[in-house]
Amino acid sequence: MQIALISHDKKKPEMIEFAKKNEKILSDFRLVATGTTGTRIMENTNLKIKLFKSGPLGGDQQIGALIPEGKIDMIIFFRDPLTAQPHEPDISALLRLCDVYKIPLATNESTATYLLKGLELDEITQR
Ligand code: PGA
Repeated sequence: MQIALISHDKKKPEMIEFAKKNEKILSDFRLVATGTTGTRIMENTNLKIKLFKSGPLGGDQQIGALIPEGKIDMIIFFRDPLTAQPHEPDISALLRLCDVYKIPLATNESTATYLLKGLELDEITQR
């Protein structure tokens, strides 16, 4: 199972807190991230994350390209709904592929928390 982590600049503090709070469950899975998000998380946790390019430089597209290959199982993407993003077309394309391939996608912390709770329950029931 591979989880992608992405956050816009104003949401990075929230993403770091989220990663710290959920470090144990996240450490059970393979993680990938856009460049800055992943770097910041690794600076603040012991999580190991495969880094792609920064989002505005193509990182969202790199992660999106993994979806049709079946290599992404969940995306946690803390979006900033109040700031225009120069790479909005890349973001829309990524979200679209999540729907095409029915990939669980959390765009805010509340949904992300529920998704991770679901993974925890899966782990418990599969023991
Ligand atoms: P970043 O990219 O993690 O490199 O900042 C995220 C984004 O803006 O899509």
